[in-house]
Amino acid sequence: MVNTILHIDKIFRLLKQQLRPYGSPIVSRKKRYIPDTAFVTLISCLLSLRTKDDVTEQASRRLLTNYNTPEKILLLPNQQLENLIYPVGFYKTKTRRIKEISRTLLEKYKGEVPDTFEELLTLKGVGRKTANIVMVYGHKKHGYLPIDTHCHRIPNRLGWITTKTPEETEHTLKKILPKTYWNDFNDLFVRFGQTICVPVSPFCSRCPIEQYCKKVNVKTSR
Ligand code: SF4
Repeated sequence: MVNTILHIDKIFRLLKQQLRPYGSPIVSRKKRYIPDTAFVTLISCLLSLRTKDDVTEQASRRLLTNYNTPEKILLLPNQQLENLIYPVGFYKTKTRRIKEISRTLLEKYKGEVPDTFEELLTLKGVGRKTANIVMVYGHKKHGYLPIDTHCHRIPNRLGWITTKTPEETEHTLKKILPKTYWNDFNDLFVRFGQTICVPVSPFCSRCPIEQYCKKVNVKTSR
């Protein structure tokens, strides 16, 4: 493990330039058709788990345009909620979770999404990634680092860290990545992982930061 990341400012600048044409990932993207609330961020994030961004986007739009508070969600029969979010992955389980979370928010938090990381983790179906995303993009708080599969894979390939799980990556990155980069990190690295540094055979030939990459465990590239 390294103690600091060399050329970090340059790397972020190059990535931002190159990735400008690509839209933000669904969970951090501003949604014009629904209110920008912590509840909307939370539900979009739950819908996005194991689901492609464009499918999540359409399901979020169908559900959250009209049903964007816990009260409104609870008025929906399960079958109708399932129909609105289909075909997101595990749509039946997600329907139950969304209902359960909405009920908990009403019973324990007056219908608001709690704004502490620890309380978010007590909601059924909410793990570290979702809780971090809600803190950053829902509550607009600083000091959180959401780590998904891209945010875990790429820093390992770059040689910044040597970690086995997203949680380990979160803790390790927090020690070596200056705080000023935390808010942009998830949005930027998810976009990068979806378009260039993809899971299998990354597009190293058009990577803007190739000269700074150790390509750890990259067996084939394009
Ligand atoms: S050089 Fe290849 S492996 Fe390294 S960050 Fe770029 S795309 Fe990923």
